[in-house]
Amino acid sequence: MTLIPLPAFADNYIWMLHDGQRALVVDPGEAQPVLDALRREGVQLEAILVTHHHPDHTGGIDALRNATAAPVYGPARESIPPPFVPLEGGATVQVLGMIFEVMDVPGHTRGHIAYHCAAAQPSPLLFCGDTLFSAGCGRIFEGTPAQLQHSLGLLAALSGATRVCCTHEYTLGNLKFAQEVEPDNATLIAYVDVCRQLRANGLPTLPSTIAQERAINPFLRTEVPTIAASAKAHDAASVADQGVFATLREWKNHYR
Ligand code: ZN
Ligand code: FE
Repeated sequence: MTLIPLPAFADNYIWMLHDGQRALVVDPGEAQPVLDALRREGVQLEAILVTHHHPDHTGGIDALRNATAAPVYGPARESIPPPFVPLEGGATVQVLGMIFEVMDVPGHTRGHIAYHCAAAQPSPLLFCGDTLFSAGCGRIFEGTPAQLQHSLGLLAALSGATRVCCTHEYTLGNLKFAQEVEPDNATLIAYVDVCRQLRANGLPTLPSTIAQERAINPFLRTEVPTIAASAKAHDAASVADQGVFATLREWKNHYR
């Protein structure tokens, strides 16, 4: 299986997975990068998986469906261009001979879902849309901080080797905030160098892994004393009121 992040718009990735003959794509915000990749790789589109309703994840669906007749799978609780197979947490999807388990991960949007394949080779795979980013997480547009934190907890509990396929290249910006919040994290400091090098060479910082995110992502580490102290120093009233996670998320919204 070949896993390829197809750049789209300014900083989106449309993930493609293929076995040399058949392919799936996740969150095609636009069709052209997918059509180009299908031709380049010499593969047929077997399925389109969608995590949530935002246009930068759904804008290419109609054109791809028309061009390939591939079926579309998406979140039951959100409206995406019909027809599509509606999925909720606990459902499974079989694509490319692999079984993907659907997880409900609300917070960024109310009906956001993720796709997890525990048996993927060489390691498990997670397509998490705009829920978890490397060193960060999605903004809360429709859900609550408690919902998003719970969703991230479900993802963080997956096997450490799980490849995390996020849909935006936000890593360097997220790392800047992560270092502000947890300056004494040596793993984080080392990861910043790795990611800067990748970006300097025009390469994606993704996929990440769950183990990596547990070690460096402040939104998965709110119980770490340094991070809790940073949140308190930033806004003690907010921490007392809403907790560390909500305070970090709010802080990050304005952080430059
Ligand atoms: Zn989104
Ligand atoms: Fe997005």
